[in-house]
Amino acid sequence: MKIGIKQEDKGRIYNMNDKKQKTRQILLIAGLTSMVIIALAVTISVILMLRPSSSTTGGGSTDVNNQQTQQEIEEQQQILAQKKKEMLEQAEYYALTYDYDKAIETIKSWEGYEKDSELVVKINSYQKTKDSCVRVKMSDVTHIFYHSLVVDPERAFDPSDYQGKGNYQWMTTIDEFMAITQEMYDRGYVLVSIHDLYDITVDENGNEILTEADIYLPEGKRAFVLSLDDLSYYHSYDGYGFASKLVLDENGKVINEYIDAEGNVHYGAYDCVPLLDQFIEEYPDASYRGAKGTIALTGYNGIFGYRTDYSYSLDTPDLDRDKKEFLLANPNFDVEAERAIAKEIADALKANGWTFASHTWGHLRVQDKQLSTLMADNEKWQKNVATIVGETNVIIFAHGQDLGNWGNYDLTNEKVQYFMEQGFNVFCNVDSNLYRTHFGSSGTYLRQGRRNLDGIRFYKNLIGEQDNLDDLFDVEEIIDPERPDYSVYE
Ligand SMILES: [Zn+2]
Repeated sequence: MKIGIKQEDKGRIYNMNDKKQKTRQILLIAGLTSMVIIALAVTISVILMLRPSSSTTGGGSTDVNNQQTQQEIEEQQQILAQKKKEMLEQAEYYALTYDYDKAIETIKSWEGYEKDSELVVKINSYQKTKDSCVRVKMSDVTHIFYHSLVVDPERAFDPSDYQGKGNYQWMTTIDEFMAITQEMYDRGYVLVSIHDLYDITVDENGNEILTEADIYLPEGKRAFVLSLDDLSYYHSYDGYGFASKLVLDENGKVINEYIDAEGNVHYGAYDCVPLLDQFIEEYPDASYRGAKGTIALTGYNGIFGYRTDYSYSLDTPDLDRDKKEFLLANPNFDVEAERAIAKEIADALKANGWTFASHTWGHLRVQDKQLSTLMADNEKWQKNVATIVGETNVIIFAHGQDLGNWGNYDLTNEKVQYFMEQGFNVFCNVDSNLYRTHFGSSGTYLRQGRRNLDGIRFYKNLIGEQDNLDDLFDVEEIIDPERPDYSVYE
């Protein structure tokens, strides 16, 4: 849509001004001083304004119409200036998120932009930045992941508790997450979506082929991918100082519910999703075209803190203790109501750049399990989770297991065949390699290794047993002082 003053409107403005001048000349010929004219005009205007508009006849009506028109013109100009400001802000947002084509396109949609030196300068500057960008090498793209963040380290890392050790190993605190996010931003890291990494073409046999996509970033910037595992707020997290669910605030933004040690309920940013959303809102250039992370979901305890799984019924055979206790404590539980809220949240997340992956329904070890088990499990994922978050081509394996060694998969492996038949062609594991992106078997699929940024990794780097974080941050700088020494668990 083109916005701007049309040429014919401009003509109309000039005609009105001519008329006004003529009126003034006639009055001057009558020998009145300009002060008197103004006073008279005002008086006449006031009188005329007090009369019904249908009866405004005679010599004064032209002035009134002119005044009204003048006011309309000013209002129109103000609206136009505002629209231009908004257009430029939108263009600037696109440029900040490295979409220079869209930034330029936005300005070019402004009618008469060619004659507006401010706009021409802007276009040239965006074009210059675009031309100076460098193509991202896929082999340089690192993939990091987190679990739900620890809000209350005292409860999460309780040394007297078995779960405390697990939380120490696999979890990251809010302060650590924020320090890492800031440090990576300061070092020039830019979040890209896993889906930005590839283009899809279809070969002569109708098979989808993944090829390296073009991502261009300014010199010195580095692309990275982010995923979040197990965003279900499992029953096992209860009481350990994690957020309890995702909720929508009054503006439709995704935030958390968090219950503190005293049982007070808080709403705000208590986990990766809202914290990262806020960070990227503040620093739009932290993200490539508004990309966010990929959320890897299981299904057995529902998703986002909602008990959306159809197994939540007292009629389910062999119902586990957590579910039984939950159902007994919530006699009015309605799985469809839970699913409806979760769907609203999934939609809000998607609209905001987040994407989803399967993490298997039951958090299974794909190497250890039989194919038949994996098939039944995937059917549950499709029925319980995909129906809320939508279909996905990404699977992020649980426990870091994978369907084969690094490199090309064995395409005769029936598990590989099964997952590919089910529409998965992006496969992620966990490994300690810094950079692992592989377009396998002539582009049949994409594999990416992921790096856990959690307590055990921090600890091993801190004691010098591992050295695999320096490219992202200095572990001494980010580690939460509230984290106890790991030896308390030995
Ligand atoms: Zn997991």
